Amino acid sequence: MPVVWSDRHRRHEPGGEVWVGVRTPGTELPERAERVRVALTDAGARFVDAERHPDEALLEVHDPALLEYLAGAWEDWEAAGLTADPGQDRVVPYLFPHPGLLAQDPPPVPTAITARAGRFAYDTMTLIGPGTWDAARAAVDVALTAADLVLAGEPASYACCRPPGHHATRDCFGGSCYLNNAAAAAARLGAGGDGRVAVLDVDAHHGNGTQAIFYSDPEVLVGSAHVDPAAGWFPHFLGFAAETGAGPGEGANRNLPLAPGSGDEAWLAAVAELAAWARDGGVRALVVALGVDAAAGDPESPLRVSADGYRAAGRVLGGLGLPTVVVQEGGYDLAAIGRLVVEALTGIEEGRA
Ligand SMILES: [Zn+2]
Repeated sequence: MPVVWSDRHRRHEPGGEVWVGVRTPGTELPERAERVRVALTDAGARFVDAERHPDEALLEVHDPALLEYLAGAWEDWEAAGLTADPGQDRVVPYLFPHPGLLAQDPPPVPTAITARAGRFAYDTMTLIGPGTWDAARAAVDVALTAADLVLAGEPASYACCRPPGHHATRDCFGGSCYLNNAAAAAARLGAGGDGRVAVLDVDAHHGNGTQAIFYSDPEVLVGSAHVDPAAGWFPHFLGFAAETGAGPGEGANRNLPLAPGSGDEAWLAAVAELAAWARDGGVRALVVALGVDAAAGDPESPLRVSADGYRAAGRVLGGLGLPTVVVQEGGYDLAAIGRLVVEALTGIEEGRA
């Protein structure tokens, strides 16, 4: 399947994460996408450059206020002198509009640049630097271009996105994600296709942003298999089985939380359950939110899935026989990420055959 790519991902150097108040090196590194590119090149993949898409495509899944903030956040931070005093070289929030704090919903956008960061970021580990907006914007273009290829008749395409997107909601961001690439692809497929779309998220972590964006939408099924937040894992506050959608979207959301250490058998059973749910839901196109951080050895999750497991999951998802856009999410084991992606994509092609 064609691989959509943009060099602009390299402009996003997160500069680490602020986690429990401490600057740590972080794992969402430019090298991740480069390793995937090398593995796909070795596997003989056909690369397609991402095409720039207008902002209207972003507005399908994000509030204008979030886009306006992200587009200017770094320049505003630098212009306010914060890189010199107190000497913070990334945008880091310090105050958050917790529901219990507020007199207005939604809260106003604060005047102070330092406070504005907390209006849109829900954690301290998703830092903004000089090239973050450009890279995040390019990642959406990668996903939209991959969706366009499928709408033009390709059976499947792979969007090699970085930064990832599935933790970004309609109006806030976090979890190393800024803009929701998979949601943008799903909206594109939904608008250009003829019927329901499913987003099936096999990243090790709950796709809370994608869930939130489509929570009331009956036309986009969102399913996620992930490590149980109740076992102490990000995003902690949601991702539970009881979250099934709201209003007209009731029944169009499905969460399958898994115990740490689940391994191939339980994880593959969950992936198969999501695939059967999408098939029974009558969907006409599929977005696979492909995180490979469920793999054994990944520093960010305890699910211990094997490379063969990712191949088998690919066969299950490919077996649906749907027009499919695969969008890269997490995966932080640099030694394994390339092979894991190749295995998953190969599995999808085997499943379709
Ligand atoms: Zn993840």
